[in-house]
Amino acid sequence: MIVVKVGGSAGIDYDAVCADIAARWAAGEKLILVHGGSGETNRVAEALGHPPKFVTSPSGYTSRFTDRQTLEIFEMVYCGKMNKGIVERLQRLGVNAVGLSGLDGRIFEGRHKDSVRAVENGKVKVLRGDHTGTVEKVNTGLIELLLGAGYLPVLTPPASSYEGVAINVDGDRAAAALAVALKADALLLLSNVPGLLRAYPDESSLIREIPANDVESYLEFAQDRMKKKVLGAAEAVQGGVRRVIFGDARAGQPVTAALDGAGTVVQ
Ligand code: ADP
Repeated sequence: MIVVKVGGSAGIDYDAVCADIAARWAAGEKLILVHGGSGETNRVAEALGHPPKFVTSPSGYTSRFTDRQTLEIFEMVYCGKMNKGIVERLQRLGVNAVGLSGLDGRIFEGRHKDSVRAVENGKVKVLRGDHTGTVEKVNTGLIELLLGAGYLPVLTPPASSYEGVAINVDGDRAAAALAVALKADALLLLSNVPGLLRAYPDESSLIREIPANDVESYLEFAQDRMKKKVLGAAEAVQGGVRRVIFGDARAGQPVTAALDGAGTVVQ
């Protein structure tokens, strides 16, 4: 079983990702797709007059500050436009895909963090009213039910808090939790870069391999949102996933290329 996470940044070729997945699915491979939608969410939020707000924690992690209105815009884009766009592509390719958020059936569940520590103008501030969290539990029963009946699950944040409140969670780390819970053979984190770059944005500085027992030391090469991917990779391999690959989703056969060793392989 393979968990594929495709990001939401500019340049990602969803047609290529879906065509590759459909071909592998038709050949009998069990797959689950998790997706993002950050680029489109930013555009829609601007258009609706509620521009995105990103905060950086004292340890250097960037995240979207998610007040209730942001959460609703986030759901419109992730669960609506992005999720249904991918499901439609797969359906057109003959794959019976089912699109669900982490809220549905509590597929992704975790603790609600209402406040976030953010560095603003060199000072650490506590911002309240945040609808975020981290996935701690995965409803594998529902996923296995779908896979067993021949449906390809297409999953997206938000997750559900233990109290049943929608929370924004990082898609890469949610995919990692899913891969661990399902004992997946591989986790693919596909984005708009060839993999983890030693000197971003120089694409010729691609790191080809990262030893599974040393992933954290590669955090120093990742800036802003790439840090979450490296963290997700560390969580997945420490949780027993044999291989995590940072791959390129901009063209070609992104899933097949990554499984054939293109990109950054963590094992
Ligand atoms: P997605 O939404 O596709 O999952 P993100 O935007 O969250 O992807 O993260 C990927 C981005 O991380 C890249 O587009 C790039 O701008 C940035 N990045 C930062 N540091 C690196 C690095 N060392 N190697 C590759 N990408 C990096």
